[in-house]
Parts: sequence; structure tokens; C-alpha cells
Amino acid sequence: PPVIADIIRIQATKRPDKIGLSFEGRDFTYAEMNARASQAAQALLSLGIKRGDRIGWLARNVASFWDVLFGAAKIGAVLTPINWRLAPPEVAQILADAEPKLFVGEKMFVDALPSGEQQPNYRTMLLEEGGPDCLDALVDKQSAIEPDHKGSVDDVLVQLYTSGTTGLPKGVILPNRCYYEVGLAGQEAGIIIPQSDDEAVLHALPHFHVAGLNFGLMAMCRSMRIIQHRQFDPTAIVKDAQGDVPLNSFFVPAMIMMIIETAKTMGLSLEQFVGISYGAAPMPEPLLDVIMKAMPNATLVQFYGMTETTGGVTVLDHDDHAQGKKQRVSAGKPLPGCEVNICDPISGREVAQGETGEVIARAKFIMDGYWQNPEATAEVIRDGWYWSGDAGYKDENGFVYIVDRIKDMIISGGENIYPAELEAVLATCPGIADVAVIGVPDEKWGERIKVVAVKRVGVELDADGVIAFLKGKVADFKLPKSVAFIDMLPRNPSGKILKTELRKGESGAGD
Ligand code: ATP
Ligand code: MG
Repeated sequence: PPVIADIIRIQATKRPDKIGLSFEGRDFTYAEMNARASQAAQALLSLGIKRGDRIGWLARNVASFWDVLFGAAKIGAVLTPINWRLAPPEVAQILADAEPKLFVGEKMFVDALPSGEQQPNYRTMLLEEGGPDCLDALVDKQSAIEPDHKGSVDDVLVQLYTSGTTGLPKGVILPNRCYYEVGLAGQEAGIIIPQSDDEAVLHALPHFHVAGLNFGLMAMCRSMRIIQHRQFDPTAIVKDAQGDVPLNSFFVPAMIMMIIETAKTMGLSLEQFVGISYGAAPMPEPLLDVIMKAMPNATLVQFYGMTETTGGVTVLDHDDHAQGKKQRVSAGKPLPGCEVNICDPISGREVAQGETGEVIARAKFIMDGYWQNPEATAEVIRDGWYWSGDAGYKDENGFVYIVDRIKDMIISGGENIYPAELEAVLATCPGIADVAVIGVPDEKWGERIKVVAVKRVGVELDADGVIAFLKGKVADFKLPKSVAFIDMLPRNPSGKILKTELRKGESGAGD
């Protein structure tokens, strides 16, 4: 079976002169990209990198990411891209966990890292800086000879870290097989097939995120041109959408909102978008209508998945997005070759159709496991099924709806309460700008419901007002016992609320 480095090898043979990547004014043909990948492989070999060695990577979306990804793949080495938006001590923690042999990054991020007490066991190199420790310069010097490593689907391609929403980021081991299988499933589902060869992919999702990496690889499988953005900048995206090239992109919902608002402010159209894939976070239904109006030519595709499943579990097709269809707020149906069940998180038994439980998935693109953490792996992969930690249900037509995170579920007086339901209602409360609902330990009830809200400026609102607002809109047992107001909710770099932070310091006292 093919390995991921074959994508670039095959395109270099079949379409050598086609431009595969455009980045900050430079174009790279597929032949050049493959040659750069071989040079990167030789550079890595010259640094003593071997099969299975990890290469830490801390950079925004630069062109050389693809050189080093494919270069590493050509020798069976593992790229470990790290979220550059994390705080330096968090990055240091990931580096300590991943134990890379080589660490490559943009100077400003590398310089910001805390200088540890001991010498690290890895060599550090910089990007685009010149000088003896510049990786790009070392790559330039190499000859573009294919290394003689016989690639295998079991070679680990990347070690990605999860977003760290429910705890510390975990290192997810994804071999070539996962990417091959998820790509195959995507192809079968008919995802991002360009209408013509002149379509391009506008790529502004971070490379360190499972969706960012996937989308780039899928584009290259289809010999498309990637217009690579160094980082997400709505103004730059709106400007790029003014040409005559039809564009395909993957964004998270919050990004699409910003792009549309920016286009409105600039008085420019977004009609050049012919394909919009989205996922990673729930899509609010009102935003869906806004998107369909602002991007009338775009085929919409939603993905639901996680780092551990190489990004794929379910997909919602364009046709299912139509107004009036109930499934437009679902996450769609399982990808081809992927099975999805809903089970009780405690008993493990499948729940009845329509009932909420934990979403579990079985597919060939489930991770090998968490890096050096067999206990955590055994907790989530049981009998070949991956337990997602997400709460959801299936409707009578097999559409999967994501309700909330299991870890955030509140059990109060024996009742399961999903904070997301209350948060959705509270979001419509005029005095509330931002809100999270958590469970706090309670002697009598097990847990009691607490609302943490950010008030809208200039609005009078107290705890009783919040509870009164909910009364009648949700069942009485879902009414909060307390309400706290704070200035800002803690969020991680991908914008997800850190409920673990909010729960810290809550005592077990009942009321
Ligand atoms: P951690 O595992 O470290 O706590 P994380 O789960 O946020 O962080 P990711 O693997 O990046 O890390 O994100 C996967 C999660 O994102 C899913 O488990 C789900 O909760 C959410 N998600 C992904 N796609 C969708 C979608 N289409 N709709 C709703 N939620 C989604
Ligand atoms: Mg997760």
C-alpha cells in the first residue's frame, strides 16, 4: 500500500510543472516540492535522524513545513508540530514529553522558551535565519537524492498533540496508515473534489492541528495548488478571494464568522469560495445561514473528529445543510469504513436510538495510541473502539448529533445534565456576553449546577435574574444553584473554554 511520501513522488512524476504550493510570493512546482523533500530527508540524515526519531516543530505555516514533513516521511522519521500559540512553559512541557532528537522553530518562539536547568537532549535549529543553525540553509545545500528507506504504512508520520481542552495535551501517534485510510474514506465520501484543475486551496488552518495537516494532504492528493497563509488573517483571506481562482478552504466556525464580518466591512464579496469544509467545534445554526448567504457558491462540508481519529469520524454533506432539514445541526453520518455507536459511558452498553451517550468509533484511521502512555491509551481504545469523550445521539436516519463533552457532564441528584444545553439557552439572555456551566461537588446532590457568566457592559443582572431567566425554559432539576460573574472566561488557544480551570478551587460544601 502507498505511503504518504508517495503523494509528492507521484505528483512530481505525473504533473511536474504544476504549481503545488504558493507562499508569500513564491511558487513551487510539484517537481520542486518533491526535490525539496528529498533534500530535507538528506539534511535530516546528515543530522543523524533515524526512523522513529521525533522532530519537534514550532512555527507558523511556512512552506518548508511540507519539505520537512515529506522529507521526514521519506526516512520514516516523525514530525511533531507544536501549537505556537501555547505559552512557552506549555511548549517546554510538550518538548519534554516528546523527547525529540531535533527541534526546529521560528526564532521568536524558540527564544521565548524557558532556559531549562539541564541541557536538553535535542539539537535546536532555526528557520529562515541564516547562520550555522539554520535548517533551510542546510536543506539548500543537499542534493535531491531519494533516500533508500523502504517506507512502510506502519512508519509513524506525525505525533500531534491534542488541543488540551480537557487536560494536558496528549501526544497522538499517527502512522502513515491512518492518513492513507482517512484520505481513502474522504475520497469515497466525495469530499473536496475540485470542479476543475484551476481551483486552489486557500490554507490558513494551523499545520499543527489535525485538520490543517489533513486538508493540505488531501489538496496535494488531488494535485491542487495550495495558497499557504502563514497564519489566520481574515483581511488577507478576503483579499485573496478577489482573484478569479475558485477557492476551497477548511476553517473552524469562528474563523468563518470573522472572514464574513471582515468582507462586509471591506465591502468585498466571497463568491470565489466554491468549497468550505469546517469542523473542530460546534457550528451555531444562525451562523450557517449567514455563511450560505455570504458564500452562495460554496459547497459546505462539516467534519466531526478528533486528533485521535486522524480528524475523521462523521461528515455532513452539502445537501444536508439545506434550510428546513433537521440534520443541518448534526455532525452528519460516519465516513465510509467508519462505524459509530452511542454507548452509556458507565455501563458501556449501547443506548437506545435517540438517547444521549458517549460517541464511540471504529475505523482503520484510529491512532496507534498516546505517546508513552499505555494507561491513557487503554482507557480510550477498548476492543478496537475509540471512546471519544463526546456526548451525542443518533437520530432515526443515522445522523450523529454532538451534545457536549462527557467530562463536562454534570450528575446532580442522579440526573445527567449537559452544560451545553444550558449554555445555549443562557447565550440568548440579553445581559450575558459569555457563559459556561459547570458542576461543583455537593454533599447532598453529588454535584450542583453553577453558572459562570460574563455580564454585558451596562446591563443590570444578578444571580436571581439568571435563574429566573432559565425558569420555564429548562426542567427544574437543571436550574443552577449558584451564579458567579467574572470578567473573562479562560480559553485555550483554539478558543475552547477551559472548564478544568473554572472547576479549580470549588469545595465540596453543600447548601
Ligand atoms: P483534549 O483532547 O486535549 O482535551 P480536544 O479534544 O479539544 O482537546 P482535538 O482533538 O483538537 O482536541 O479536538 C477534538 C474535539 O473537538 C472533539 O472531541 C469534539 O469535542 C470537538 N469537535 C470536533 N469536531 C466537531 C464538530 N464538527 N462539532 C462539534 N464538536 C467538534
Ligand atoms: Mg480530545
